[in-house]
Amino acid sequence: MIQSVCILGSTGSIGQNTLDVIARHPDKMRVYALTAFSRMTALAHQAHAAKAQVVVVPDDEACAQFKAAWQFEMTCPEIRLGKEGLISVATDSAVHTVMAAIVGVACLEPALAAAQAGKRILLANKESLVAAGHIFMPAVRDNGAVLLPIDSEHNAMYQCLPTEAQISAPLQPYKTIERLILTASGGPFRDLEPRLLQAVTPAQACNHPNWSMGRKISVDSATMANKGLEVIEAHWLFAMPAAQISVVVHPQSVVHSMVEYTDGSILAQLGQPDMRTPIAYGLAYPERIASGVGLMDLLQLGSLEFSPPDYSRFPCLKLAFDALNSSQAACIALNAANEIAVEHFLQEKIRYTDIATIIAHTIDQIEKQSYDLTTLGAVLDLDAESRRIAECYSHSLSSIH
Ligand code: NDP
Ligand code: MG
Repeated sequence: MIQSVCILGSTGSIGQNTLDVIARHPDKMRVYALTAFSRMTALAHQAHAAKAQVVVVPDDEACAQFKAAWQFEMTCPEIRLGKEGLISVATDSAVHTVMAAIVGVACLEPALAAAQAGKRILLANKESLVAAGHIFMPAVRDNGAVLLPIDSEHNAMYQCLPTEAQISAPLQPYKTIERLILTASGGPFRDLEPRLLQAVTPAQACNHPNWSMGRKISVDSATMANKGLEVIEAHWLFAMPAAQISVVVHPQSVVHSMVEYTDGSILAQLGQPDMRTPIAYGLAYPERIASGVGLMDLLQLGSLEFSPPDYSRFPCLKLAFDALNSSQAACIALNAANEIAVEHFLQEKIRYTDIATIIAHTIDQIEKQSYDLTTLGAVLDLDAESRRIAECYSHSLSSIH
């Protein structure tokens, strides 16, 4: 059977890499639907090359842009609109596999809908789990969905599990795991003198030494908010308490993460820092297929280094551990405030060092109350409230500078 794939966020970094892997295996998989937000010309070219049957665009204006960009003889694909369009392709009966690669909490609703429809979900987006892991994971479990982590660290840890522990939404940690060890490159500012951090620019923050990624996650990698989100993501994916998740800085980005077992063994997954490896793993699981990633020459690597993260340099990582230990509301606030702060930093409205300040302030404000977060609506309301607080505080900071 040919696997039919829907890519949510096909024009992004993960989306493009997913198309690259799929194109290498026309005998095994094909694209059914693609979605994009602003890059309509790119979407038209992707849909043409992959012969997509459906595309999703945000609104009528984007729809007109897409039609204008469709300069091909092939019939234009069916165009669906907005959030309903995203949910419809994520749950479409013609789709087996949903690659969830929209950035931010915008991915939550279609990814959750895919879980509720019992799809095979390749989860690149981490913000959905951070904000709503307590709703998403039961939805996977209750509807027989298959969840495969694509984030390279989680994919690595998944690969280091015995087959019997490769469960889509476990209720408890696998019995013999002592610790999950996430590796972090330390990003572009790993060795920068801390007093210089406040003057760094978006271009410098997006210039990751090892990985090529979208702008939001690139800034997240520089601040290590990304690693913080990944700690929370690991908590949900592997049902692991925060106390058994640790982070080590590993500048080479060759060991993608590790699992430590009771007997003292540490299993690691190594490879080139190229997302096509975890994407190919997810697409072909439980088999393996060519991904286009070159083989790694261990002899060229020289040495592999590991060191503890410095919380004074990377306060966002500490904020994430604290949020996970504190409450779901704090995790929602952390994620939402980070999205706002990163957007404002990329627009040069605030300084790099303001990102952590905005997150901390938003969590403090949110934690003044308690919340019932059992429904998706309540999560989205708190996400919106956190964004308002973060926006407001960010404006007050930008007027000071
Ligand atoms: P990009 O910014 O490169 O791509 C994001 C995609 O989402 C684009 O297709 C974009 O459309 C679309 N999009 C953006 N906003 C919206 C919205 N509001 N509604 C619908 N679609 C939207 O991001 P990445 O590919 O880097 O990352 C995607 C996700 O994967 C993130 O959650 C990230 O944390 C995670 N991830 C990424 C890794 C990487 O190497 N890049 C590694 C591990 C995880 P358009 O471009 O048309 O505007
Ligand atoms: Mg990662």
